[in-house]
Amino acid sequence: MTEKEILRLVADPGFADWLNQIQRVHGCAHPIYLAGRTVIRDPESGTVLHEYSTATAPGGKIAVRCRNRRESVCAPCSWVHAGDTWHLVRAGLLGGKGVPPAVSRHPRVFVTLTAPSFGPVHRLGEQRRRCRPRRDAPLCPHGRELSCAQVHSRTDPLIGQPLCPQCYRYSDHVLWNALAPDLWSRTVRVIRRRLATAGGIPRAKLKEHLGAAFTKVAEFQRRGAIHYHAVIRLDGPDGPASEPPAWATIEVLSNAIVSAVQSVYSPLPYAPEIGHFEARWGTQLDIHSITVGRGAVSDQAVAAYIAKYITKDVGSFGGTDRRLLTRHQIARRPVSRHFRTLMRTAWDLGDAPALASLRLRARAHTLGYGGQALTKSARYSTTYKKLRAARAAHAGPVLPVGEMDAAWRFVGAGHTPAEAEIAAGVASDLAWAREAANEVRDA
Ligand SMILES: [Zn+2]
Ligand SMILES: [Zn+2]
Ligand SMILES: [Zn+2]
Repeated sequence: MTEKEILRLVADPGFADWLNQIQRVHGCAHPIYLAGRTVIRDPESGTVLHEYSTATAPGGKIAVRCRNRRESVCAPCSWVHAGDTWHLVRAGLLGGKGVPPAVSRHPRVFVTLTAPSFGPVHRLGEQRRRCRPRRDAPLCPHGRELSCAQVHSRTDPLIGQPLCPQCYRYSDHVLWNALAPDLWSRTVRVIRRRLATAGGIPRAKLKEHLGAAFTKVAEFQRRGAIHYHAVIRLDGPDGPASEPPAWATIEVLSNAIVSAVQSVYSPLPYAPEIGHFEARWGTQLDIHSITVGRGAVSDQAVAAYIAKYITKDVGSFGGTDRRLLTRHQIARRPVSRHFRTLMRTAWDLGDAPALASLRLRARAHTLGYGGQALTKSARYSTTYKKLRAARAAHAGPVLPVGEMDAAWRFVGAGHTPAEAEIAAGVASDLAWAREAANEVRDA
């Protein structure tokens, strides 16, 4: 069926133009089609400086990328986004894209922040480590053994599942995911306060001596809890172009982070459904100073690591991408029982008036988490917007400055099955070319 459709598509007189558009959008899996025109005029004389219209384009429309960052939704767009993320993180570590290269000499650390335990779960058997061996093998109140002597391989679906689902603190877990973004912003504030204390400077005057720039990416662990990977860099008072004061060393920064992570918490107002709840970080905290060049915690490796995580979401960890409209839909989502229980818990807590601001129903499919995949401070490096503009300028003519008159409308989205197959071919050709380029670069 599809084969016949492909033959018909290829034989179409407009095929070459269509293929051209699909190549331009990198083989996007869900392109958006727009029709319209843009006219730029000189504001004084009214002379037309630039005119673009889809009237002469194939089918009278132009394809635009869906720009989804998630690999599970649109792999080609997720790769473009991962590339932009890599540039964004890398520029903050090594300079470039408008950031001075001297930043590579500033104190820079790579931090991983985790959630606390909400009950024992099965663990990955790294280096043949057994899951949770206990000689005394205690029983929980539900009669389940709170031990596991297996060595779980990476693909074992048991990893991240609780030893006893009835003991597991599901509502704490969902609330923690929901509060993680607030916990992070409080942590950043406390880090800045601790730095001021270390330098003997009043908190309000810290900016006159020191800047702390960061970027962070969120990742779902197998148990469905969020954790954060962050880059934190110290600058002088004028941002990346200025040297931090001599007292602001990696050690001072690391101590400020440890102290902040241990003391900070994000409280919820009392609600009868949950009692008193406050989110705190887990005890597992990794801080590494970032080295120059190559190696496990080098600036190159950290940029690649963060770029890889930006394409992942809860779907990549056995969750689901689509928002839930009813509680019944949870039963039909192809996820583990553990994730379904997290979704139901979020859905049910979404009813509580005191928790309305957490929007737990709208976030039930992401297990309560509603934060951004990547956040950064204003002075970290460049922006996605600037990177996209640079790519567009590279790909096409620079538009003249003038009075812009633009009228565009949405005329459709997505592919027919035959178009989808050809677009996937375009995307995999580009992926192959990119991999080859990477190999040449790394050789
Ligand atoms: Zn796309
Ligand atoms: Zn186990
Ligand atoms: Zn139990």
